[in-house]
Amino acid sequence: TITVFGSINIDLTTYATRLPRPGETLHGDRYAIGLGGKGCNQAVAAARLGAQTRLVGRVGEDTFGQRALADLSGAGLSTGDIRTDAGVETGIAVIGVDAEAQNCITVVGGANMAIDVSDVERARDVFEATSVLLLQLEIPLEAGLAAADIVRAHGGRVILDPAPAPDGGLPPEILARVDVVTPNETETELLVGLRPRTPEDAARAAAMMRAAGVHAAVVKLGAAGVCYQDADGGGFIPPFEVESIDTVAAGDCFNGGLAYALNDGASMGDAIRFAAACGALSTTKAGASSSAPTLPEVRALMG
Ligand code: ADP
Repeated sequence: TITVFGSINIDLTTYATRLPRPGETLHGDRYAIGLGGKGCNQAVAAARLGAQTRLVGRVGEDTFGQRALADLSGAGLSTGDIRTDAGVETGIAVIGVDAEAQNCITVVGGANMAIDVSDVERARDVFEATSVLLLQLEIPLEAGLAAADIVRAHGGRVILDPAPAPDGGLPPEILARVDVVTPNETETELLVGLRPRTPEDAARAAAMMRAAGVHAAVVKLGAAGVCYQDADGGGFIPPFEVESIDTVAAGDCFNGGLAYALNDGASMGDAIRFAAACGALSTTKAGASSSAPTLPEVRALMG
């Protein structure tokens, strides 16, 4: 089983010609309400591919929490491991998008940031039965690492997406507590002090992460491809050529795909190629969790 322990948000997206200035009220054209949060997006991505997927998280006892649970069920995910917390609001992201597709986003973590080790204890049986655990940084890190310890003690593997890049930096010690880490350029710089601009830089950064104790380092260079290193070697995976219209959640679809392929027994190189196809396909559709591809779509792109 793939388990995601992470954030669940409702995304409120407004579309207007331009973004408002401080103090200004602007008339927008339309808005959309959808599921978001990196945890939720990665879970939906893995489930859409057909993997048995569980999502452990928290929502508030409010309208947005009910909406999130209903949408997750609609995406084929069980809501049985999601705790409803009466003391706090459901996480939201308020997103403004202008005519040039530039955006401004405020995320309020709410229930996601109230997650603690009691959530880990409550779902202990889920973590014990997990073959691949997906973590991100939209819930408190200590809770994520406590879950990682359980998964690894029972023979499962842990993939950490160190995103969004935290203001306070990233302690390199976390690299020894997970199996795979998947930073983008910014997160790589926070982890090892080197901003990768070329595949060679990325390979050097990946080697530094391996030296810090992670089994596999996967450095994402956006539309420029992916570099990785693990115990068997490493390499550069060139990007798939697609017509990109919206890169929101490309990283989440990449990680959902990586978990799917590793859970399916793929080697690291093959799993990253599969993940890169998932990330690329997600940029051909608008939206966050709604842009995750299906297995036939991924197979068709991979040829
Ligand atoms: P993040 O959202 O974490 O910054 P990226 O933007 O690096 O993630 O995207 C994740 C992955 O999705 C990339 O490593 C790549 O495999 C794929 N991807 C993203 N954008 C494109 C694109 N324009 N063309 C092809 N593949 C892409």
